[in-house]
Amino acid sequence: MVVDEKQLTEDILRLAATDVRRCMQCGRCSADCAAALNMDLLPHRVVWELNNGHASELLAAESPWKCLSCMACEERCPRGVSPARIMEALRLLQIRQQGKNKLAAESLEHYPSDMPQQLLVAAFRKYNK
Ligand code: SF4
Ligand code: SF4
Repeated sequence: MVVDEKQLTEDILRLAATDVRRCMQCGRCSADCAAALNMDLLPHRVVWELNNGHASELLAAESPWKCLSCMACEERCPRGVSPARIMEALRLLQIRQQGKNKLAAESLEHYPSDMPQQLLVAAFRKYNK
């Protein structure tokens, strides 16, 4: 299957909504990343790969699934870039590519009634296209 790297890159950037062109590869995001030891691509490298059009390699990476969403990378970045949001975008695209983005409204009856609304909204965003 031919992968449209340009389209894939645009999809990641649209979902992540962070300006990767501002990255200066200082590495602070990776230095403060709590999950760095378990990642195959460090956060600053993820940004670099995206900036250089290697979107399909990012989608095959394990790093998004090792990310703890602690947001330390976003907080420490001196250029306002958010590797955390890129990790989330990559998780989302992987889920969609595997066709696992299905969450039926009917299944809500099986969930606790005191479930936070934010969780439901987040789940529908992630698992419903
Ligand atoms: S901290 Fe920000 S500018 Fe530095 S490498 Fe990470 S994303 Fe790029
Ligand atoms: S949000 Fe993810 S990538 Fe960013 S510092 Fe935390 S674990 Fe690392």
